[in-house]
Amino acid sequence: MKKLLFLLWINIFAIGFAQVKSPNEFIPTYGKQITLYHQVEDYFNHLTTQTPYVKHQKYGETSEHRNLNLYYISTPENLANLEEIRLQNLASIGMAPKSPSKIGDKLIVWLSFNVHGNEWAGTESALSVAYELANPENKTTKEWLKNTIVILDPCLNPDGFSRYGNWLREISGKNTNPNKFDREHAEEWPGGRYNHYVFDMNRDWAWQTQAETKQRMAIYNQWMPHVHSDIHEQGYDSPYFFPPAAEPQHEFIEAYQKDFHKLLGKNIAAKFDEKNWLYNTSERFDLFYPSYGDTYPMYNGAVGMTIEQGGIRAGREVTMENGVNLTIKERLTHHKTAVLAVVETSASQMEPLIKGFRNFMNNPRTKMKGKYATYVVKHNPKNVQLAELLKINKIEYAYATEKMSTSGYNYFSKKDESFSVEPNDLIVKVDQPKAVFTQILFEPTNKMTDSLSYDITAWSLPLAYGVQGYAVKNALNIKTKNSIETTSKEIPKNVYAFYVPWNNRISAEIVGELHKKDIKVRYAMKQAIFGEATIEPGGIVITKGDNPKITDFENLVGEIVKKKNDFTTISTGFSKNAKDLGGENFPLMKAPKVLLLSGEGVTSTEFGAAWYYFDEVLNYPVTIVEQNKLKNVKLFEFNTLVLADGKYNFSDAEMKRLTEWINNGGKVIAIDGALNIFDGKEGFALNPYASDEEKQAAEKLKKEKELKERFLDSGSEERRLLANSIPGAIIENNLDITHPLSFGLGKKYYSLKTGDKIYSLLKGSNNVVYVPKNYKSYGYIGHNFGKKLPETVSYSVESKGSGKLVYMIDNPLFRAFWENGILLFSNALFLVN
Ligand SMILES: [Zn+2]
Repeated sequence: MKKLLFLLWINIFAIGFAQVKSPNEFIPTYGKQITLYHQVEDYFNHLTTQTPYVKHQKYGETSEHRNLNLYYISTPENLANLEEIRLQNLASIGMAPKSPSKIGDKLIVWLSFNVHGNEWAGTESALSVAYELANPENKTTKEWLKNTIVILDPCLNPDGFSRYGNWLREISGKNTNPNKFDREHAEEWPGGRYNHYVFDMNRDWAWQTQAETKQRMAIYNQWMPHVHSDIHEQGYDSPYFFPPAAEPQHEFIEAYQKDFHKLLGKNIAAKFDEKNWLYNTSERFDLFYPSYGDTYPMYNGAVGMTIEQGGIRAGREVTMENGVNLTIKERLTHHKTAVLAVVETSASQMEPLIKGFRNFMNNPRTKMKGKYATYVVKHNPKNVQLAELLKINKIEYAYATEKMSTSGYNYFSKKDESFSVEPNDLIVKVDQPKAVFTQILFEPTNKMTDSLSYDITAWSLPLAYGVQGYAVKNALNIKTKNSIETTSKEIPKNVYAFYVPWNNRISAEIVGELHKKDIKVRYAMKQAIFGEATIEPGGIVITKGDNPKITDFENLVGEIVKKKNDFTTISTGFSKNAKDLGGENFPLMKAPKVLLLSGEGVTSTEFGAAWYYFDEVLNYPVTIVEQNKLKNVKLFEFNTLVLADGKYNFSDAEMKRLTEWINNGGKVIAIDGALNIFDGKEGFALNPYASDEEKQAAEKLKKEKELKERFLDSGSEERRLLANSIPGAIIENNLDITHPLSFGLGKKYYSLKTGDKIYSLLKGSNNVVYVPKNYKSYGYIGHNFGKKLPETVSYSVESKGSGKLVYMIDNPLFRAFWENGILLFSNALFLVN
């Protein structure tokens, strides 16, 4: 009876909703001009209402308040059982309780389009893919859907897509111009590739710093798909790319994942051969860094993949180097063909895919891949953020409730040592559904099959967060609790001062909030003891004496500092160690009035990282000015200038004005490429070489090398370049712990080094964070480059007149996930005065 009713329902649909339009019929400009985002949504709405094969879910909003949408495409029967299918899949890998179900296994295939906003053939092709899957007339796709749920996200980055789309429409003539010099092929700064805060969201899958990623990954982790395809475009001259992926691949990737890549590659190739389309596989796009749309799914048991059409900067039509014109219609058709082949091949491989997935998540032999079974992170205020990262990735963790002596690998010393687990230490056991991903994030060394990677090669969490961690070989049998209990503190009626420890990003948030409310703040230069309270260097103190106009001091300040549970109240200014609150150990903090430069020349994503830090992490005002408009700005209205990585062209007059402003108390925070502004300039300490001799020696060495290299074969050139480079590795740094730039960071700083800039220890500048002689490193560094690193500086502070220059050789805000880097930048902003 149930089946009969069901068939009847289908028939009603077939009769009632026969008018399914193709994208061409629905959108007149489809395949000729970029589709506007609301038209994309309208078309999907059409499919949702006019066929029984599509179900819509709005899963969130972008920073610019566009909808984020998912479309579930399957048979009406499957769509009616979506929730049960989802839970059954989760239960099969221990991520949901098991419950009896009559529904057989279904394959879950997730399709992600256009994470890079300007790679617009992605979203265009999503309309055609959805049409082919949902059109009741297409009987072939209906066969696939019997055992397959397709979860289709037509646009992961609606803000970037719209930024590009609005621009393209604005500059489009009635006729296309395929000449590559036409402005249609030269997108404007910062480019539609990125999201609102100018982040590359295809580097953000694991860290989830961006609103879009965060909201999407919550759903992803509620589904845990078996196949995930990430649809991109690359430079327009490159032929189509599809799996198998290139080396290096992470050693944890399993045979069933590689096998599927090969099978899929053959199937797509056959379809492309038929049409004489060019393509390549296995040459680029490796599988290592865990925060991509292919690796994240791979490390979570799915078969992840990247596919790429040539199309960036192609506009609507462009002439390629072979003289052939490439149009948007062709680009989207290639994608449609490849993506449908992904669904077809997946549906045909349901059994091995599901078997492989469950084995990956469940089988102790396959999932305990690394050397260690338990990770212990010593109790630290930065664990608040670390726990949050684990939570959003559905990694199970707990806190110790007892003491235990054991031994393990110390991330900092790189040695096996005995240590003691204490109550409240963070415990992460590998034996859990997300075992492999847990190990990817925590294993001290991630092994790859080759060294030619084009992204960072180390990201071990204890180092990124600057927290003492140990990797323990055996599964620690220790009693734990789910959270650290917090008791709300009573604030006395009369408070002499509040103290907030300076030890994580929330400390900086609080200081920002206090400044915004015009509340005066002091901070400790050295340890000071008041009754029960010990104030550590960097500690924030808000005294009633500094703020006489605030009538409800206790309430107002208490409300702000409550964000951190480790705040304290102090009833006297008299310290036990001669560091009284009214003395020179507690200077007043200047409220930063921040100017940040943007525009052509500034590296888009690095500008974005700084903007995001102020606007979202800190929630603090920042004035953004394009670098070529700096001349119009009255510098003396600001006291802090942030120069993100990039190329800056300051005229002599501009430099003079800037120098005068620094001498009068201005502070410059210059990062990476921005250092060139001051490098070797008269009156500034910044210089890559400590002496003329050192400079001459380096130049001589370079010449000798060039002479030698004349005899080397060109085939190994890529590898030779690699020997001199650093794609991204972690470098141990010593700290001058008496300098405010190092407050709260710990005993060492582990810097994520992504560039090859090297500076000897600077003369006439405080080299606060520097690479020691026998430094430890993590991840891949070219051996030639590694030899140059000892006794070079990573972060230095120069005093000039009444002002300061903070030189940042490495970007501490890189991709917004280096937690201790965020604190280091906050030091530069608030504590270096
Ligand atoms: Zn891309």
